[in-house]
Amino acid sequence: MESDKILSGKKVADEIRTEVAHEVSELAGRGVTPRLDVVLIGDDPASKVYVGSKARACDRLGMVSHTHRLPADVAREEALDLVKALNADPEVDGILVQLPLPPSLDTHEILDAVDPAKDVDGFHPVNVGLLQQGRPRLVPCTPSGIMELLRRKGIAVEGRRAVVVGRSDIVGKPMAMLLLHAHATVTVCHSRTRDLAAVTRQAEILIVAAGRRALIGADHVAEGAVVVDVGMHRVTVAEEVEQLFPGDEGRRRRFEEKGSVLTGDVDFTRVLPRAARITPVPGGVGPLTIARLMANTVAAARQRRGV
Ligand code: NAD
Repeated sequence: MESDKILSGKKVADEIRTEVAHEVSELAGRGVTPRLDVVLIGDDPASKVYVGSKARACDRLGMVSHTHRLPADVAREEALDLVKALNADPEVDGILVQLPLPPSLDTHEILDAVDPAKDVDGFHPVNVGLLQQGRPRLVPCTPSGIMELLRRKGIAVEGRRAVVVGRSDIVGKPMAMLLLHAHATVTVCHSRTRDLAAVTRQAEILIVAAGRRALIGADHVAEGAVVVDVGMHRVTVAEEVEQLFPGDEGRRRRFEEKGSVLTGDVDFTRVLPRAARITPVPGGVGPLTIARLMANTVAAARQRRGV
């Protein structure tokens, strides 16, 4: 059946959240409530939505969350002072600096200032290095969520050809590293890759994080491949919805209700018939990211507090 092909990230995220909730109640018995502090600088509308979802996820699981808002024109010293204060606060287990930062700030400088033991996004060079060496501590949430999805859906990685499209520090590079450590043969593609389709057609597992709407079409995918779509784009033009999802009544209705629908880096309608398994957008990778953030916050609390 076609629906067996769909890799629902929602269900796996629910499983992860249930496990985290058990851990939180067990920690509560020992007098520990994990706490996540989010730093939001500027007023990027998408960032505000993401930060809101992260705070709500914490609340639902019985964890504490605090959001610290700073204006877009905040002085570099003030932003760094906030991070240092959170590093020093023994009640704070996880620190997340919401990206992107305003262009006036140096992203590396701010992220480097986060205590690696509280770096629940896994972006600090110490955590990046530990992952690279195959002794991961706090691992970036989106790629670690994808590994959980593959594992829990019984998709074998060892010995298989995996292709990652995108080489960002947030998704592409850590994804490639996790697949490599799971014994896949990994190829990383990027904006200067020649003949992308010829490379991606080699993939038994294809992970796409390019930030380009519908970049991956049927010609890019081998028959029977597992396709994971990290991309996230809002479509606001009715003709484009029809072009991307011809005859998809559900999507057309959602567009009429909300004025937009989400889509990914993969042309879902045209790739679906070729793929063995495929993640949808929405409901694929997105929910896994927040669930993994919650798991990282609990892990940071345990490691730092020695419980
Ligand atoms: P990025 O812009 O930092 O990196 C994109 C990468 O894709 C680059 O390495 C670039 O070389 C490569 N690329 C761009 N165009 C390409 C092309 N035509 N062919 C091959 N490679 C190309 O983006 P990112 O932060 O890695 O995010 C990628 C996408 O994933 C975005 O759509 C983002 O919104 C989404 N995202 C979703 C989640 C989630 O939780 N669902 C999390 C993070 C990112």
